[in-house]
Amino acid sequence: MDENIKKELQKLIEYQKKDIELRKLNAVIERDAALAEKNKQEKLFNEAKQKLDECEQIAGALVSAYSELQKYVNDAEALFTELENASAETEEQLEERIKKLESVRGKISGADKKAVDLDKRSKEINRTRADAMKSGKTAQQRYRDAKDKHNDLVKTKSADVSRLSAELENLRGSLDGNMLEEYKKLDGDGKFPAVVPASTSDERKGMYNCGGCGLNLPQQSNTLLRDQGWCRCDTCRRIIVKLK
Ligand SMILES: [Zn+2]
Repeated sequence: MDENIKKELQKLIEYQKKDIELRKLNAVIERDAALAEKNKQEKLFNEAKQKLDECEQIAGALVSAYSELQKYVNDAEALFTELENASAETEEQLEERIKKLESVRGKISGADKKAVDLDKRSKEINRTRADAMKSGKTAQQRYRDAKDKHNDLVKTKSADVSRLSAELENLRGSLDGNMLEEYKKLDGDGKFPAVVPASTSDERKGMYNCGGCGLNLPQQSNTLLRDQGWCRCDTCRRIIVKLK
């Protein structure tokens, strides 16, 4: 096997080792239960906030409806007083006045029912608002606790994350450019790890499988592995190495 290629592949494998280590650390951080809890409580808090906004809107509409109703009652009452005090000359006029008084009385009683309904809805809205305030506050507190807990975890891992990131950055400069490009491409296609060992089984002694997708390699690739120490998998495109 070409010693230069071997060296380059070894450097790439070294790089990948650290890359895997860093990914594992980041996975621990991303899968932290406290982070999930933090996101959940943030969602609950936003829901409570939205509920409060809705309550505000409904409360505003109720206040307008209430003042309109108040105006309606005042007008009806004024008309009622006016009719009561008006003098009736004839029997027809008296009858007409009684009819109007009944109609105004009906309107006032209808308004009464509406007022009771508005009152009921106001109380409902106040209850909903109080509930939303309470759940919003609970969510806020739980969010803060989860955030602190998650930040603590991030802190314990941060030294290793920084060290590995710096080491990877350093190694990148010394890698073969084309190899690094292939590595990135494979990673981008979800083929990580990009460099895999050639594996073999007892039944297939001397014949190799891709250490990534596990499929048997054709004769041609087996020859390449033997002669140059590496080949590409025809199926998953990973770089397969057999350095010993
Ligand atoms: Zn493969």
